[in-house]
Amino acid sequence: GATIGILGGGQLGRMIAIAAAQLGYRTHIYAPEASGPAADVSPRWTEAAYTDADALARFADSVDVVTYEFENIDTAAVDVLSTHGLVRPGCKALRVAQDRLAEKRFVDTLGGMTAPFMAIDSLDDLDNAIDRIGCPAILKTNRMGYDGKGQARIMVPGDSVGAWNAIHRAPAILEGFVTFEQEFSVIAVRGAGGEIRFWDSPANVHLDGILATSTVPAGAVIEEQTAAARALTRQLLDALDYVGVLAVEFFASAQGPVFNEMAPRVHNSGHWTIEGAITSQFENHVRAICGLPLGDTGLAAAGVSMRNLIADQVDQWPDILADPSNHLHLYGKGEARPGRKMGHVTRLVI
Ligand code: ATP
Ligand code: MG
Ligand code: MG
Repeated sequence: GATIGILGGGQLGRMIAIAAAQLGYRTHIYAPEASGPAADVSPRWTEAAYTDADALARFADSVDVVTYEFENIDTAAVDVLSTHGLVRPGCKALRVAQDRLAEKRFVDTLGGMTAPFMAIDSLDDLDNAIDRIGCPAILKTNRMGYDGKGQARIMVPGDSVGAWNAIHRAPAILEGFVTFEQEFSVIAVRGAGGEIRFWDSPANVHLDGILATSTVPAGAVIEEQTAAARALTRQLLDALDYVGVLAVEFFASAQGPVFNEMAPRVHNSGHWTIEGAITSQFENHVRAICGLPLGDTGLAAAGVSMRNLIADQVDQWPDILADPSNHLHLYGKGEARPGRKMGHVTRLVI
């Protein structure tokens, strides 16, 4: 059987590895840590830095296709991997999606709506941008941010020094605050031959910058905006010559869907698809990167809700299991630190 290489050994790698195993593939994780949630289910694991060109080359040579659960990989590493084998999604998607400025500019060129934004490399840039964009606004690092980390809100112009010191990292981006009714994501898969399928878009609720719940059906406000959001996502997928699952986060605003960011990988807001869709995002990601036909993305129930178990919420698992309708997923992480995603629970509305 063929082997799928996965960069990153967290819960997304674990869930890709489970789907891969079901389809008869072996997985080989490459990560800088000795172990992680994916270690329980992946037969092979290489512990090496993303900057170790020799280890990356050996890894790429030992697998049939490389994918990633984590987009913050140095593009130099992806260049090494690409010269040694197939990387899906490819470098182009990774380059754009790992940089907030690049991805917003890209969406701009495709005619999509984004928050007003400006590039920030210094405190001077920030003060100028606040003059132009106004308050409230959000300063974000261009790279490496997740779960709201690397962000600072600016409510009044006087907040600029504090915000700059809080993220203290250039390059950055200042975004105007979008007034939105709700948030949703488009989760799409593009096959090796260019076929595109969409799952139903979930309504996503974030608490403290971290995804708390995803719910399908998303309701009328979001449903009215999914066609336009899908049209933009289709443009992104085709322009990036994308293969695999892509998630795009949107704000549902009075003006229509506003692009927030994209993730060139399986996504937390798609975890409900494991039980709630005919084919999960993980299975279709594996099918796509392995050049197989895509599975049906239709709903497997009348409705689905997914709730993340963050930090000590994981201690609720006995009560969750006591309700036979719940599907419990635990990621096998040791310590329930604040803000850490430890698992999730899915409920189907039959
Ligand atoms: P993740 O990658 O884990 O989704 P992140 O750290 O990349 O998170 P963002 O998606 O940029 O963070 O922001 C997190 C949340 O903060 C958004 O889902 C939204 O609720 C809010 N937010 C971010 N940017 C804006 C904005 N320009 N206007 C209004 N709200 C925003
Ligand atoms: Mg993000
Ligand atoms: Mg986000």
